[in-house]
Amino acid sequence: MRLANVGGRVTVVVGDGYVDVERASSGRFSRDPQAVFGDWPGFRLWADSVVEGSAVQETSLGVLAADLDAPVPAPRQVFAIALNYADHVREAAYSVPESPGVFTKFPSCLAGPNAAVVLPTGTVDWEAELVVVIGERCEKVSEAAAWSRVAGLMVGQDLSERRLQMAGPAPQFSLGKSFPGFGPTGPVLVTPDEFDHPNDLEIGCRLEAGEILQKSRTSNLIFSVPELIARLSAVCPLLPGDLIFTGTPAGVGGTRVPPKFLTAGDVLVSWVEGIGTLRNPMVAVDNPFSRAGVQG
Ligand code: ZN
Repeated sequence: MRLANVGGRVTVVVGDGYVDVERASSGRFSRDPQAVFGDWPGFRLWADSVVEGSAVQETSLGVLAADLDAPVPAPRQVFAIALNYADHVREAAYSVPESPGVFTKFPSCLAGPNAAVVLPTGTVDWEAELVVVIGERCEKVSEAAAWSRVAGLMVGQDLSERRLQMAGPAPQFSLGKSFPGFGPTGPVLVTPDEFDHPNDLEIGCRLEAGEILQKSRTSNLIFSVPELIARLSAVCPLLPGDLIFTGTPAGVGGTRVPPKFLTAGDVLVSWVEGIGTLRNPMVAVDNPFSRAGVQG
């Protein structure tokens, strides 16, 4: 099953159409995309009947890319993993971690799959990532049971302001990666049963103008999705609707020689096999003088 957030309404994607959940369920489920995680197993049962076509007559919506918002817009917790691909560990000149390095992206940074991102500085970097959405509460969950607690997978970008991230004696990962718009996700949430090999998906990003920036496979993760869920849930209960940004492969800009960063006018295209594509235009900080037509 594929779920989308269309203009703030949760929808099930069926073929080329979008079934509006609140209307199709006669109000049993609300329009709020975050609220489906209040009863994810019940929602899955209902939604599977929609996909089979028995519960819906006519609910297709005409949807534009601009209508799509973050499929999971207001998680209670967002976990993010540093240094989780060996080739990225090497380019960043760290040693391979023995346990996952964990930080957060504060939820106010989450954005839709096609959202424009305002660049606060000239040192904003890209990080294509697989994002896991938790479906059921996880507390000390084993690796073997972990996939059964996953609601679905999304594409994500862990956009990173490198100067702030690395400032000070203890790096500011969480703050440097949480400017508004720094967490685009989507374009849809895809449930694990839709994948033949959910632990081995191509992942990457490129500039729309053409240059491939990152390309890898999620089978290269140092800590796999089940291992991350087991290790995180050994400490923090994972709650329905929580997100895990699982880490990025090699190819970020900040460790290149010379460094390369996003600039206004770039369109960053990010993908994960079997899920879809994010398309995020980068724009300059809004300057009140230029907005008023004042030069200089
Ligand atoms: Zn990252």
